[in-house]
Amino acid sequence: MYCDDSRGTDIDHFEPLERAPLRAFVWVNHLLACSFCNSNQKNRKYPVDAEGACLLVDPTAEDPADHLTLRLSVGTYDPLSPKGEETIQVFGLNRSELVKGRVDAFVRACSILRDWHGLHLNAAPEADRVAQALLDSPFIDVVHAMTRLKPGVAVIVVGEATVPALDAWRTVHSLSLRVGQQRIRGGAADANCIEGVVDNTLVGDGRSGQGRAGGRNNDAPVITMRNYGLTWTDPTGTPRASAVAYDEPSAQYRKAALEREGCTSVEIVAVRPGELPEPRG
Ligand SMILES: [Zn+2]
Repeated sequence: MYCDDSRGTDIDHFEPLERAPLRAFVWVNHLLACSFCNSNQKNRKYPVDAEGACLLVDPTAEDPADHLTLRLSVGTYDPLSPKGEETIQVFGLNRSELVKGRVDAFVRACSILRDWHGLHLNAAPEADRVAQALLDSPFIDVVHAMTRLKPGVAVIVVGEATVPALDAWRTVHSLSLRVGQQRIRGGAADANCIEGVVDNTLVGDGRSGQGRAGGRNNDAPVITMRNYGLTWTDPTGTPRASAVAYDEPSAQYRKAALEREGCTSVEIVAVRPGELPEPRG
């Protein structure tokens, strides 16, 4: 729950027992942590302000992204709020092994995303397993930070070769992320439309299967995705059609590439799963 490096071997009482004995058995006060974080970092620390409100980000109730931002190229967290600053200090989020772990994880994630994208474009069955392997790996916060990059920044941070894969990843997983955040924030108004839709491994620590939302939902993810094909006329005047289906950002990306190659009448057409468009001409 804290460093994102390990699966967790300890249970930490987020609000320490000596401070809040009545919360000893409150479910959301039990957080899975690794023993280093529990014993050497967090320990019994629970800084509060003058009104007694906790100065740490509570991962069961808040989105850490509101308080912390990850600098992917160097692997360190920067605070976005006083709470973020205190959280970095108390949990030692910028200790050297975590920083190195995130830098390595970032390099690995770019490579795996590109592999996943190739499989995804070909509708290969292994695509889902590769995606799950990535989501189950340590430092999944790196992947979450990648999905939050603004388009203009993403190309600088992840590089042009990885941008199409990242766009496709966002499309496939954006629903889960968006819905997950509403749920983390306890948006009751959205409760009806999210039940049974969230794969909470996407919103949690990526490994415990419990997620920040409390591990209520064990349903398989239901991701609605539209498929698109392309039709165009190649530079020799021959009508062509794509041999694979794309998600929307990938189709847009492919369209731009074809136009750069001098193809004309490039059109994106929605197709049903398993179907492909016919050349028009
Ligand atoms: Zn830890």
